[in-house]
Amino acid sequence: MNALRSPLRLAFLVLLLAASMWALLLFYQPGLTAYQQKMAAPAEPEYAGVTATWLGVSALLIRDGRHAVMIDPFFTRPPGLLPMLFNRPIAPDPGRISRWLQRLDVRSLDAVLVSHSHFDHAMDAGVVARMTGARLIGSDSTLNIGRGAGVAATRLQRAEPAQPVEVGPFRITFFESRHAGATGGRPTGDIAAPLRPPAGYLDYRLGGTFSILVEHARGSLLHHGSAGYVPGMLAGVRADTVFLGVALIDELEPYLRQTVDAVGAQVVVPVHWDDFTRPLDQPLRAFPLVVDLDGFFEDMARTRPKVRVMTQGLAEPVSLYVPAPAP
Ligand SMILES: [Zn+2]
Repeated sequence: MNALRSPLRLAFLVLLLAASMWALLLFYQPGLTAYQQKMAAPAEPEYAGVTATWLGVSALLIRDGRHAVMIDPFFTRPPGLLPMLFNRPIAPDPGRISRWLQRLDVRSLDAVLVSHSHFDHAMDAGVVARMTGARLIGSDSTLNIGRGAGVAATRLQRAEPAQPVEVGPFRITFFESRHAGATGGRPTGDIAAPLRPPAGYLDYRLGGTFSILVEHARGSLLHHGSAGYVPGMLAGVRADTVFLGVALIDELEPYLRQTVDAVGAQVVVPVHWDDFTRPLDQPLRAFPLVVDLDGFFEDMARTRPKVRVMTQGLAEPVSLYVPAPAP
């Protein structure tokens, strides 16, 4: 009797455990309280300054009314965790991309900038550059994504670390960084030939990691898409606002010193915390296990009370360089 009961009980326990894990993944939403309470006020539509529009993960649209650049565009967001684990083929979704560009009223872009070539930062970069007539700036791997998407060779520009490039009113500088995570960012290596999708998730190889400084007459921002760093990489760099990747942070304090403190930022916007296996038109959810957004807010308030930490609503332009009204 007992012998019969035990395997049954074991099976029941295993099922229960699996169901709890599943429920945790579905409903656990770390950080969303802080996310909603500390959201920046959207820019007034008539405000003609420089705005930053966050588009999930580390995708960012920066514009000043006449000119615009986009960093790490990622609208396709292939759904599901399992296809990623099994390295199924993925491809940019042109319909979804053009619907989002329309929704954002983006008809042209001066440049698409890419921090590294993993799929969640770079898979849409070539298509967005082609659709908007932008030049694509990034590593050789990123340029191979551009070639695969049919971006004209004249509009492909290799990022040269610490060499500023003028893009309309923006001065863009790439700084060599390191990918987050103990393994240095899998898949590592380069995309050695034009990448023509569909391709496996793992075909979007790292190809170098950059922190990107965007300077404008009205101020500057640093886009730090992945939570790694090269010690001293930002020495002498100043930025008013840092868009800081918070997934897979190894040790927070040295990371903050090498990024936020190094550039003397007054405002920090955590990015790369949302679950990118869900489409952008569903409510955002924090990625469990790899991100602790609440902890990030608490730590920043305790260790750097003068730095303003805020989130941005999805696809809501926020004025840069002007203080938002107090909540
Ligand atoms: Zn990555």
